Amino acid sequence: MTYQSINPFDNKPGKSFPEISDRELEEKMVVAETCYAHWKQTSYAHRAKIIAKAGVLLHEQADRFARIMTQEMGKRISEARGEVEFSAKILAYYADNAERFLANVALHPTIGEGHIESSPIGVIFGVEPWNFPYYQLARVAGPHLMAGNVLVVKHAGCVPQCAIAFEKLLIDAGAPPGLYTNLLVSHGQSEHLVDDPRIKGVALTGSVPAGRSIAARAGQNLKPSSMELGGSDAFIVLEDADMDHTIKWAVWGRMYNTGQTCCAAKRFIVVEKIADKFLEKFRAAMGALTAGDPMDEKTTLGPLSTEAALLQLLAQVDVAVSHGAKVLMGGKRVDRPGAFMQPTILTDVKPENPAFRDEFFGPVAMFFRVKDEDAAIALANDSDFGLGGSVFTKDVARGKRVASRVETGMMFINNISWSDAELPFGGIKNSGYGRELGDMGIQAFVNKKLVRYGVADAPT
Ligand code: NAP
Repeated sequence: MTYQSINPFDNKPGKSFPEISDRELEEKMVVAETCYAHWKQTSYAHRAKIIAKAGVLLHEQADRFARIMTQEMGKRISEARGEVEFSAKILAYYADNAERFLANVALHPTIGEGHIESSPIGVIFGVEPWNFPYYQLARVAGPHLMAGNVLVVKHAGCVPQCAIAFEKLLIDAGAPPGLYTNLLVSHGQSEHLVDDPRIKGVALTGSVPAGRSIAARAGQNLKPSSMELGGSDAFIVLEDADMDHTIKWAVWGRMYNTGQTCCAAKRFIVVEKIADKFLEKFRAAMGALTAGDPMDEKTTLGPLSTEAALLQLLAQVDVAVSHGAKVLMGGKRVDRPGAFMQPTILTDVKPENPAFRDEFFGPVAMFFRVKDEDAAIALANDSDFGLGGSVFTKDVARGKRVASRVETGMMFINNISWSDAELPFGGIKNSGYGRELGDMGIQAFVNKKLVRYGVADAPT
């Protein structure tokens, strides 16, 4: 396998990098293991200096980092800059808060006293996707390095330059050798790494098949894992929604990152009373997006990450249509070079259609018309995924009621502001398990050790 940059704006190949040999991998593992022996004993203040510095450097060089991303996976430059800045904030957040999150927790048993201590567990293996090439890395590096673990990371095959840039960022910030190691490895090497006794935990973000494969391997090895997988989030619109406000979120929710977001709004579930009005406005807003160079600030529709991703999405639309779905708009590639797909709305997707249970990882919205709130919730829950979801209504109490009944890891009322450093992120069902970010995110790979003390005589 080769790690290959290809600019999806024109499908021209850029730099490529061969995967490392088993010997090189072993050398890197030895350095990571050696680093851990020292790093686990460092103070939070020492760790924070390096992680915070990485955040500062990322912020200072946001444009350079963003451009690498835009060239490798086509994210529009303004979104790319936003992701870099957000990644910098995540690093700063854990530098500031890790010590507090992992402080001893006093216990008060009936006899004596005790506490829970949170200690690092070793080398953690991260497997990360291309759709947020830095944010995904910051989401594991910030918490797990601050907790005293060290990381070895396999990034996606199409973003090697982002992967290398992030590793260099930590080195530039003063990270000791082996603290954060980018691994250009194959799937086979990844599987052997999960078996490697030096690896103590596995964090994967990616598709359901990748999650199943790596989680099964981690399970066989009795290693803790966190799985951040796909989604097909419901976007529920009730009859009392503020329509203009809702339409803006609908377009953003489906089209941000050219629709390639795990927790993007993918199923639009609208109550009958306002369905026609919603659809008319949604269609017009989606149709106003124009394909162009993602490096151009004015572009409103970027390419998909790769030609292969585009072909897969087009094939999914074909399958949906062959099983009875109707294409209200779009459905084809944009007539120009590059991996561009027309903004697409599918209707009449019935439960027996394979598309009904699929994740469309790109600018394809499925539209459903339902009788009322109860029917909207039932349809939202009729999914193999359970990552996020949203509900739009002027009545916030009603929104909270709906949010409680939708079976997902995250619900948003009148917005889809998915991710903040301080808020937990993750799902249930096929969307995976565990949470990243916030206080919960740093607890995934630490030993919660009970320490009990006090004078007590042994029972006779
Ligand atoms: P993917 O094919 O599963 O790839 C994700 C990562 O896993 C890549 O580094 C990939 O490497 C690696 N990988 C895949 N199969 C593997 C295997 N058998 N052994 C070892 N490594 C393996 O996913 P994707 O299509 O790139 O990313 C999109 C998916 O990620 C979507 O389903 C999306 O919803 C999900 N996602 C979830 C979240 C979340 O937080 N829940 C966030 C972002 C994305 P290669 O590139 O070398 O194949």
